[in-house]
Amino acid sequence: PAGRHAELLDDLNPAQREAVTHAGAPLLVVAGAGSGKTRVLTRRIAYLLAERDAHPGQILAITFTNKAAAEMRDRVSELVGRRANAMWVSTFHSMCVRIMRREAKTLGMSSSFSVYDADDTKRLITLVARDLDLDPKRYPARTLAVHISNLKNELQSADDAAAAATNDLERRVAEVYAEYQRRLKLANAFDFDDLIMRTVELLQVFPETAEHYRRRFRHVLVDEYQDTNHAQYTLVRELVGTEVTESGVEPAELCVVGDADQSIYAFRGATIRNIEEFERDFTDARTIMLEQNYRSTQTILSAANAVISRNPNRRDKRLWTDAGDGEKIVGYVADNEHDEAAFVAGEIDALADSGAIHYSDVAVFYRTNNQSRVFEEIFIRLGLPYRVVGGVRFYERREVRDMLAYLRVLANPEDTVSLRRILNVPKRGIGDRAEAVVATHAERQRISFAAALRAASAGEVPLLNPRSQRAISGFVELLDGLTGLVDEGREVADVLEEILDRTGYRQELEDSDDPQDASRVDNLTELVTVAREFTEAAVQAAEAGPADEGLPQPGSLPAFLERVALVADADSIPSPDEEGGADAGVVTLMTVHTAKGLEYPVVFCTGWEDGVFPHLRALSDPKELAEERRLAYVAITRARQRLYVSRALMRTAWGQPMTNPESRFLDEIPADLLDWRRAAPKQSGSPRAATTWGRRSSFGADSAQAGIAERGMRTTSFKGWKDTVALKLEVGDRVSHDKYGLGTVVAADGTGPRATATIDFGASGKVKLMLIGSVPMVKL
Ligand code: ATP
Ligand code: MG
Repeated sequence: PAGRHAELLDDLNPAQREAVTHAGAPLLVVAGAGSGKTRVLTRRIAYLLAERDAHPGQILAITFTNKAAAEMRDRVSELVGRRANAMWVSTFHSMCVRIMRREAKTLGMSSSFSVYDADDTKRLITLVARDLDLDPKRYPARTLAVHISNLKNELQSADDAAAAATNDLERRVAEVYAEYQRRLKLANAFDFDDLIMRTVELLQVFPETAEHYRRRFRHVLVDEYQDTNHAQYTLVRELVGTEVTESGVEPAELCVVGDADQSIYAFRGATIRNIEEFERDFTDARTIMLEQNYRSTQTILSAANAVISRNPNRRDKRLWTDAGDGEKIVGYVADNEHDEAAFVAGEIDALADSGAIHYSDVAVFYRTNNQSRVFEEIFIRLGLPYRVVGGVRFYERREVRDMLAYLRVLANPEDTVSLRRILNVPKRGIGDRAEAVVATHAERQRISFAAALRAASAGEVPLLNPRSQRAISGFVELLDGLTGLVDEGREVADVLEEILDRTGYRQELEDSDDPQDASRVDNLTELVTVAREFTEAAVQAAEAGPADEGLPQPGSLPAFLERVALVADADSIPSPDEEGGADAGVVTLMTVHTAKGLEYPVVFCTGWEDGVFPHLRALSDPKELAEERRLAYVAITRARQRLYVSRALMRTAWGQPMTNPESRFLDEIPADLLDWRRAAPKQSGSPRAATTWGRRSSFGADSAQAGIAERGMRTTSFKGWKDTVALKLEVGDRVSHDKYGLGTVVAADGTGPRATATIDFGASGKVKLMLIGSVPMVKL
């Protein structure tokens, strides 16, 4: 249709155009990588405003990447200017925080609630399990946390879990779950899963509230739909509604886009069931497929198709492109991880020197965060500008978490986890025993820990020795003083400075000889800077126009904490505009999970080894293997023009060198698409550890690189190594492992370099699945 803004449709293909202009019934766009799903979503928003007279405030878009969010905002600003602020573009979690800030009271919580991340959650579960006298060896907090999280993702309450429990573990989980929820409520906190689950509860139990949001959001759009879990799916359904309400509010328009082959969050409960549920719950739903890929060359696409087609039970869809074959995929077999990193760095340098690319065109992917270190070392050495996305994040550092805990207690005095974290940090004479006495008092009186602490400071808690009581009074006074600063409206950075001074935290670090403590001081300075910038940004935003409803006061302490709590890995990905221009930008390093939805002209996929990628855990589990293969598909399809795939013959893990066989995914890429810059040595499969190391230098790695490799070699041990390479294990065999000690083989699977065994190391209490060829282990 030739509307007022025809240019919005000009550069779309017919199927995309149909998705953009479709009105009415719920719309599902399922299509492979790079087929323009995100573009459709962005364009649809623009179209709604331009051609269908929607107001920005009626639009709720759920995206995972900052880049997509920024693009949507830009497009909308172009069309409607500042009014774009009224549109909600966010992740599921930040959307729920926004809703809950308004509605928490309805659920008996206060709007100053804290958001508990994985670490806080684990701490609280540890406390709960301890109070329930659970043996931490049998019921580790991490296991309990995973089970509870899974239940929440399925919208199962503690009561549901108790009713459905059939074994001891499930009964314990239900018990912990119930108590954990009670403590969360006392602490006025939501964990990440609660944010979703309780928002669903809110909408289901309070129809007026549901209707309020349904009136407001007339258009709901969801990107990366394949990665939603059941709770998130239900949330979307409740927001949109499936029928007209009593007071006549029609269901909102819904548009979701996704690709079942890119579902990589099954471990968080994401399920392609959601695609089926969509077609079932929304009976009149429309489905549109997109088949043309605009991102990659045919070579890259063919590789991706070949790999993903090995997965069972998938709807086959063939993507095509008219971009031409392009360059072949470059393969490289490195001696070890240092050699691999040197190759990547050298290649990036050469491409950049030739003027073919900017650094910002390049992404380096690995399976797990710990693999980034080797790349960083060589990049620093060569002066190659880079940025790591994710990894040990700033906000996860101990000193930063300590300071945030202080701030959280000031914002939400009931926050037990934070309160107990800072109780004796820095040391102020409130020992474990005193803490236990206060905790017991809280339990007995059924009051919060914070209330018990105040009682203690007032001398109302028996069994507390006078010294502890004085220390607690001092602490409570300290908090009261700091709370006064917040109440006066002092900015967050100032409050932080005061905390650092008044607690003596900074002084303690400055007095220390430990070089680590010096870098802690730097991190704290950085945190203060973050807070300053935050306030400045808020001031500017206030000048630009009024804040949206449901948000904490811009620049306020709650707003700051919310920002910090919801910083996603993807948030720090530089957008191309920021990085481009005259400046050549930086190379981006990240895990494949983080790369979802992004694209780069040049992509390096590293560590393609069985046991690394696919992950060791997946080798004996077909479901996990299928998920790893989808991850490989995501990795390959991020590349636009050039793709590199590399692996290392040896890699140090757990402080031990391991020989890793080639990733099966590498094997699945058709040979004619690959150009081996350096192939595997001929006698592959035979004992080769020592010789490989011996030949390292003959491959021309530069001398700085050889230096790193040599240092690595001196620190690693080859004890018993050669024996392990040819190791053949059967059920019942006894083995000795360098780290875990004596063990018995309980299962064995596969042959040759891919053979795995499950080994019960009775003494250390561990049962482990291992890739036999790669572990420092001998058969007895
Ligand atoms: P993914 O599954 O990886 O999230 P996607 O389906 O969301 O991919 P997009 O990121 O929207 O795909 O699009 C991939 C690339 O193709 C982008 O650079 C986009 O601008 C471009 N593109 C999409 N549709 C068209 C089109 N009709 N004409 C030209 N370029 C297009
Ligand atoms: Mg996309």
